[in-house]
Amino acid sequence: MFQRILVANRGEIALRVIRACKEMGIETVAVFSEADRGAHYLSLADEAYCIGPGPATDSYLMINRLISAAEIGNVQAIHPGYGFLAENAHFAEVCRSCNIEFIGPTHQAMQKLGDKVAAKQIARSAKVPLVPGSAGLIANEAEAVRCANQIGYPVLIKATAGGGGKGMRVAMNDVSLKTGLKAAAAEAEKAFKNAGVYLEKYIERPRHVEVQILADLHGNVVHLWERDCTLQRRHQKLVEESPAPTMSKAAREEICQAAVRLVKQAGYTNAGTVEFILDQATNKFYFIEVNARIQVEHPVSELVTGIDLIKSQIRVAAGEALPFKQKQIVHSGSAIEARINAEDPARGFRGSPGTITKLRVPGGPGVRFDSHVYQGYTIGPYYDSMIGKLIVHRPTRDEALSCMRRALAEFVIEGVATTIPLLREIFANAAFARSEIDTTFIERTWPPTAP
Ligand code: ADP
Repeated sequence: MFQRILVANRGEIALRVIRACKEMGIETVAVFSEADRGAHYLSLADEAYCIGPGPATDSYLMINRLISAAEIGNVQAIHPGYGFLAENAHFAEVCRSCNIEFIGPTHQAMQKLGDKVAAKQIARSAKVPLVPGSAGLIANEAEAVRCANQIGYPVLIKATAGGGGKGMRVAMNDVSLKTGLKAAAAEAEKAFKNAGVYLEKYIERPRHVEVQILADLHGNVVHLWERDCTLQRRHQKLVEESPAPTMSKAAREEICQAAVRLVKQAGYTNAGTVEFILDQATNKFYFIEVNARIQVEHPVSELVTGIDLIKSQIRVAAGEALPFKQKQIVHSGSAIEARINAEDPARGFRGSPGTITKLRVPGGPGVRFDSHVYQGYTIGPYYDSMIGKLIVHRPTRDEALSCMRRALAEFVIEGVATTIPLLREIFANAAFARSEIDTTFIERTWPPTAP
C-alpha cells in the first residue's frame, strides 16, 4: 500500500480524498492555488504546496508543477479527483512514467473512452445498445443532412471530445442542422481543441441513468448498481438517486450487466461510470458515454452499498484485488443527493461568488454533507460553484424524500445565492415525488428568467 499520496485537486473532493487517506493511515500532500490559500483541506493534509495563481490553467492544470510537488512531497501516487486533469490521458501517462501511480485507469483505456466516437465502437463490440446515430464523425454538411434524414429529426449534434454539455446542439430540420453544426464544432474546438462532431437521434424527454463500476488489475469487474440523474438543468446534474425509481429490478440488472460488459471490453480499471439515457416511450436504454474517474455523485452509491469508493480506488491502484464479489454487493435502501451550488436560479443559474456570512448545516439520522466550506469562506470566481453535496439515506424512497425535505428546511446559508430555494421547491413537487420527470423537467417547470 502507498505511504503517501498527492491530491491533485481542491475543494470538496480534495477533502474527501484526504479523509479517506487518513482513515487508511496514508499521508497526504495537498496542492493549492494562491486563491485557495487558507482552504480547509490544506490544514488536514500532511504537507501542502502552492502551484500557482488562481486561474486553473496556471495552477491545477499545470502538469509540470503537480509532478514537481509530487516529487518534492515524495509520494507514490496521485489522486486526480474529478474535473481538472482527472480524465487527461497525458497526465496519467506522465505520472506513471515518473514512477508515480495515477489513481485511475490506464492512459490507453482513458484515451479510448474519452473519445465518444471511439467509446461507441467499444460499446458496439460489447453488444451494448447505442442511440441510433451517425456511424462516426461527420465529415461535411452534405453527409450530416443525409445522415440526419436517415435518423429522423430531431437530432442531437454532439462533440466527440465533449463534456459538461459543451458542443451539443439540437437540430429540428436541415436548416437548424447546418447552423448547429458550425456552432457545435466551433464550441468544441474552443473548449476541447477538437472540432469533431457526430449525430445522434434526439431522445425526447429521456431519463439519465448511470452505472457505477469498480474494476481491479486482476480482471475483476463489479457494478455498484445504478444512479438516476434525470434532474438536470443545462445538461448538468442537480439531483441524483439510487435505486432508479422507475426501473424494474430486471431492467436494473440488465443495465448494470451492460455496463460491466462495456468496461471489460475496454480493459478499464479503477472506478468509473457508464452513462445511459432511457427512452421513456419505449423503456429502452442506450449508452452515451463513460466517465473515467470518480464522480461528484459517488456518495449515493456508497450509501446504498456500504462500499467506500475512494478507498477502493486507492486499493485497486495499489494492486489489491477487490475484496468482494458481485453477489456480495447488496443494494440497501434509497439514497438521494442534492447539489448545493453558489448560483442563482433566479438569474439563469449564473455563478454567485461571495462570502458565506452565515452557515448552519443540517445533520441527524440519514444525513451526510460533503463540503469544503465554512462560515466566512469566500467563493471566488475561478472554479466551479459547488458549495457541497447534501446526501440522505433511508430505507425507502418516501422516507429519503421526507429526510431531504427536512434537511433542506434546516439549511441556512447567507451571503451568497444558492440552489437551496429551488431544491426545496423540487422536493415539494408532486410530480417529482412520483418521479414523473425527464431531463427537461426543471426547465419546463421553473423556466429560466432572463438575468
Ligand atoms: P456531456 O459529456 O457533454 O455531459 P453527455 O453525452 O453525457 O454529454 O450528455 C449530457 C446530457 O445530455 C445527458 O445526461 C442527457 O440529458 C442529454 N443527452 C445526451 N444525449 C442525448 C440524446 N441522444 N437525446 C436526448 N438527450 C441526450
